[in-house]
Amino acid sequence: MKKLWIDGEWVPGAQGNGKVRRIENPATLEVVDEVVEGSPDDAKRACLKAAEAGRKWRHLPAIERGKLLHDAATKMREDRARLSELLTLEGGKPRIENLDEVEWSAACFQYYAEIARNSHGMSIPPTGEHQINFTIKEPLGVVAAIVPFNYPLLLLVWKIAPALAAGNTVVIKPSELTPLATLRLVEQSMSHLPPGVINVVTGTGQEVGEALVDDPNVACIAFTGSTAVGTRIAVKAAAQLKRVNLELGGIDPLIVFEDADLDIAVPGAAWARYLNAGQVCTSAKRIYVVEKIAKPFIERFVAQAQTIRVGNPMDPETDMGPLISEKARARVEDQVKRAVAQGAKVMAGGKRLDVGPGYFYAPTVLSEVKVDHPVVCEEVFGPIASIEVVKDADQAISRAAQSEYGLGANIYTQNLTWAMRAMSEIKAGTFWINDPLTDNDAAPFGGMRKSGMGRELGEEGLDAFRETKHVHLDFVPEKKSSWFPYRTRAKEIPE
Ligand code: NAD
Repeated sequence: MKKLWIDGEWVPGAQGNGKVRRIENPATLEVVDEVVEGSPDDAKRACLKAAEAGRKWRHLPAIERGKLLHDAATKMREDRARLSELLTLEGGKPRIENLDEVEWSAACFQYYAEIARNSHGMSIPPTGEHQINFTIKEPLGVVAAIVPFNYPLLLLVWKIAPALAAGNTVVIKPSELTPLATLRLVEQSMSHLPPGVINVVTGTGQEVGEALVDDPNVACIAFTGSTAVGTRIAVKAAAQLKRVNLELGGIDPLIVFEDADLDIAVPGAAWARYLNAGQVCTSAKRIYVVEKIAKPFIERFVAQAQTIRVGNPMDPETDMGPLISEKARARVEDQVKRAVAQGAKVMAGGKRLDVGPGYFYAPTVLSEVKVDHPVVCEEVFGPIASIEVVKDADQAISRAAQSEYGLGANIYTQNLTWAMRAMSEIKAGTFWINDPLTDNDAAPFGGMRKSGMGRELGEEGLDAFRETKHVHLDFVPEKKSSWFPYRTRAKEIPE
């Protein structure tokens, strides 16, 4: 049974040996391991220890912190076999996708290990003689990193690498469904960090998550998850004037313009929708295809969806695993049913798959989808591609722009005018042209509108965990004429 990691050691938690959670393999329904269910008291203790550790950690030179993060990257790569296995067993993503996740996470540690020693503020022209003005970027303090189930390590490292590199300490709350790879990461790749710098409290959002948000030692909440939970955290944090970084849901569009090369656009769109069984915040949830090429596109897209091999994600031949839980599958099933009741047509899939005991659902294609269908207005976190045929480029852009969300957007075209018009009309934190869903550690990632606030990655992702102090220094102290008594300045007052 896995315990909590607080102040550099494994602890049973305040609830003792009592409360335990079984972590289920969503493909086989076998129990992978058991984890202590943390309590609000555990969260409180972890925050206290993180605050104490922060007093030293923040003063360590950035190059020293960077070395420790480089070591974490090296150890992660050495442990890639077990980390990717655990990610697969607890989360259901195909093993190959999890190997990528481990590599991307290690690279992110390296990126922040370097850029955090590159900038520390700036020098500003002073307003008087013999003065120096400069800014320094200080860490915020304790960061609570609250993470969802779909990319347990990557979305965690996007938070903790910049936070630690900037001199903050962290308390991690993994998803209650997928805590095992996180615990393994800390055990194998991060236990060389000083005690208290990094802590993990497993447990539910209601108990541990809320306790972290409310803890007075926590200065910043870095959250990735649903818009509903993110909104709740934003409201609670506002009442305490705490910093938040919120990476939330998305209903991203993908436009296939009439000049698109279907040999690329069809498999590209299919990958963008069915990757991780559609459980990706930036997956292409609304596909708009212009009338002129709609027939061949839909025929080929349906054929492509039918070639996807669904099965046990540990099998190297598997393209797509199960959904994370029965609750998740039932929700997707309900969304498909409601869309069909409103006139959407099932072109492929549209049903559960009996390829194992787990929560499998067939790669599904819905056509004749309308702007007010639930599969277009609600986030569908499953393998459901919704296709709407549009008249022309103008209609494609205006439909794609019509959303309460604004995480990412994708297009396929070589036409610069359409590309740039779509780019400026569609609200999205990331806009991909001819290469969907490609992230870059050095480029900011995040959402507009209901998809969140703040940015991860890039320099903005480092600044999310720093605040600026202005320092004003006069190296020849002297009395100033602007001080009291004002009678010496009386003649300055106009008649
Ligand atoms: P979720 O919101 O249910 O849970 C996310 C995390 O928040 C979990 O650790 C959970 O325990 C915790 N939590 C739940 N209630 C809480 C509360 N009241 N206070 C504090 N913490 C609480 O999300 P999920 O189902 O794990 O993940 C799927 C969602 O995440 C989707 O909406 C998806 O779009 C979104 N997501 C967004 C991004 C992004 O970068 N924008 C990336 C991945 C996933």
